[in-house]
Amino acid sequence: RPTLRFDRVRFGYDPDREILKSLTFKVEAGERVAIVGPSGAGKSTIARLLFRFYDPTAGRILIGGKDIKTVTQQSLRAHIGIVPQDSVLFNDTIGYNIAYGREGATRSEIEAAARGAAIADFIESLPDGYETEVGERGLKLSGGEKQRVAIARTLLKNPPIILFDEATSALDTRTEQDIMRTIRAVAADRTTLTIAHRLSTVVDADRIIVLEGGQLVEQGSHAQLLAED
Ligand code: ADP
Ligand code: ADP
Repeated sequence: RPTLRFDRVRFGYDPDREILKSLTFKVEAGERVAIVGPSGAGKSTIARLLFRFYDPTAGRILIGGKDIKTVTQQSLRAHIGIVPQDSVLFNDTIGYNIAYGREGATRSEIEAAARGAAIADFIESLPDGYETEVGERGLKLSGGEKQRVAIARTLLKNPPIILFDEATSALDTRTEQDIMRTIRAVAADRTTLTIAHRLSTVVDADRIIVLEGGQLVEQGSHAQLLAED
């Protein structure tokens, strides 16, 4: 179970404007870490660097001690799975969408992933079950159901590290709480990094990192951060 480490990472989209300012943090194996911070703090930028849409201008990002610049894109994808805010669902069945990216997945593996993402009961209640069409961009599903399909997809790939990138930000508060419960269950024995807007979304993370202006300004448990306010 690899660790994830940002080591004095600097980055800017433009050379004259630095967005991440020597950012250092570590996620231990099995640890659930959250990053919160206001809009513009650099949270999405962290996700983009993790997937090598961009590379740091200085510093390193390490997974299991290895600089992600030195591994293949395929190996990177095998080590870290993402559940983004707006998951891309294909105009196909729920089963296909869960199995997407895991060629040759068996029916029982797909069902196990659905149970992990707490959508097995919902899927089984549908007349066509796993064969139910999700429609264009998944529009036949609610926002919460779409996110659960995306979580199931990521679970099926079984990456040791999962990044939840504002995975609940587009949902209403109640659905958000439901999905956060699912994420907690999923995260129990994994290394997870959860990027969120609000502290209240990530109450029981092992550690919360507060990012402001591309810098780590505070970190601690939810209770510790509240006590300091
Ligand atoms: P957050 O996710 O915390 O809201 P972002 O990482 O999206 O923050 O953005 C951090 C800063 O980088 C913001 O000032 C934003 O305007 C800027 N930024 C984001 N994406 C780009 C881009 N593609 N080109 C230039 N600036 C960008
Ligand atoms: P694949 O490489 O098989 O598409 P991924 O695990 O890379 O699978 O991605 C799963 C889903 O998340 C895909 O729909 C992909 O388009 C989307 N995705 C991947 N990386 C990002 C990212 N950094 N931000 C937003 N969406 C992403």
